Amino acid sequence: MKYIFVTGGVVSSLGKGLAAASLGTLLEHRGLKIVMQKFDPYLNVDPGTMSPFQHGEVYVLDDGAETDLDLGHYERFTHSVLSRSNNTTSGQVYQTVLDKERRGDYLGKTVQVIPHVTDEIKARLRKLSNEQPCDIVITEIGGTTGDIEGLPFLEAIRQFIQEVGSQNAIVMHVTLVPYIKAAGELKTKPSQQSIAKLREIGLHPQILICRTEHPLGEDVRYKLSVFCNVPLDAVVEARDVDHTIYEMPLMLQHERLDDTVCRLLGLTAPPADMTGWKKFVSRVIKPKKHVKIAVVGKYIELQDAYKSIYESLTHASASADCGIDLVQVDAEELEQRPASELLRDAAGVLVPGGFGDRGVEGKIRATQYAREQGMPFLGLCLGMQVATIEFARHKCGLVGANSTEFDKHCVHPVIDLLEEQKDVTEKGASMRLGSWMTRVVEGTKAHAIYGSPEIRERHRHRYEFNMKYRKQMEDEGFVISGTSPDGALVEIIELQNHLYFLACQFHPEFKSKPNKPHPLFKGFVTACLQ
Ligand code: GLN
Repeated sequence: MKYIFVTGGVVSSLGKGLAAASLGTLLEHRGLKIVMQKFDPYLNVDPGTMSPFQHGEVYVLDDGAETDLDLGHYERFTHSVLSRSNNTTSGQVYQTVLDKERRGDYLGKTVQVIPHVTDEIKARLRKLSNEQPCDIVITEIGGTTGDIEGLPFLEAIRQFIQEVGSQNAIVMHVTLVPYIKAAGELKTKPSQQSIAKLREIGLHPQILICRTEHPLGEDVRYKLSVFCNVPLDAVVEARDVDHTIYEMPLMLQHERLDDTVCRLLGLTAPPADMTGWKKFVSRVIKPKKHVKIAVVGKYIELQDAYKSIYESLTHASASADCGIDLVQVDAEELEQRPASELLRDAAGVLVPGGFGDRGVEGKIRATQYAREQGMPFLGLCLGMQVATIEFARHKCGLVGANSTEFDKHCVHPVIDLLEEQKDVTEKGASMRLGSWMTRVVEGTKAHAIYGSPEIRERHRHRYEFNMKYRKQMEDEGFVISGTSPDGALVEIIELQNHLYFLACQFHPEFKSKPNKPHPLFKGFVTACLQ
């Protein structure tokens, strides 16, 4: 088995995850089996308890692991099967080490970062290699070289490379080559210094991925090669993509990154045939038509908060050969200004998931507008709960209907906690999480869209549709089109006599891929085009 470790230098937000995922795409297209994982140096056990302001989206896996959004890139770009073993945080490592210490497993020794913490990191890497056999494990290390918290991971990697040999394990360093306008020059010094930091720890990157706004030029490439001690052909230009992140693998292929990786690791594999990927990219870049879709959320200003949703819209629109003009609507603004003003131009409305009451009334207004105007509507998780509240209030006459998340003592708790959630006090990993089966009711729109009576989708929520209101709502045309297999939990709802009004308690956005758009998004975009 071969190993590639992806580190980042100079600044954060360099697109390390995308670079790692893009390399994964290229190697897979060469017929190699890859596994992707991320090491996150923060002390949280998982990102599930972090605010979107801190962390962007929390990406949920089939097994219910709440993970870093880079794992979303891995799943969208590759076929690597991901589980909780594929995202290790310092929090998890320390928790294991401290549990062992309490059990007495260290037999009286002083417990230290080296070797005990580094051994635990290596053990996790080995376990993953055993559980998920493949040709290459690609490991991205979160954070930036020089961060104190990242040191144990880098030290563990140094030891690991010693153990498996440098012919089997390489380091790929993603760095920034900034352009200084006044001098009209690209600067290599920050990269030299971040490489020097790695060398101090005993790591010697063999590949440099240079994030840059301008072409590198032979002189800059030469300089980076000499000062950073990497072969000239391993200085890889990664210019800002023009249109879409899905161009990145093609750009890296043009730079022959996959050839270099195969050479360094002694792998022989046929060249990557990227025809299907290129077709997808060209549909994204040159759509035949455009459609405006409004996303109504409370984290609208954060690029990363609804990442998987935006990607899913891209996949769906590419398959419909159209481009999406996103209308990002701040839910709180809808509480001040009429929906007709803010949503007038949009062809459809999407209400994403969320927690807490901020902006909820605005989302309810957007939903009411979409329902009354016959505009396509897609509600995801909180979006389904909002659609339920709206319908209860305005179609069933249930004045004061709400979720007990927002109003504990509301008169009509149409969305409520399950009994088993009522005693939960811990916040971490205590929601209904991961992949659950849904039975889709025959004769419904959801059934037509999925084309299957049984589906599996990923969840991340605490509150549920309150079955006490089922009959009252159904009598007014509210359709429950998907439930848990025992019929106890509502998973999909839709409205009769509406072009496309559909909402689900789960998160379909976690299962959409470039050439495999999710049916609910595809159905939504198609309806918006109509
Ligand atoms: N806050 C809601 C719940 O916990 C919805 C969660 C979500 O949208 N992910 O049930």
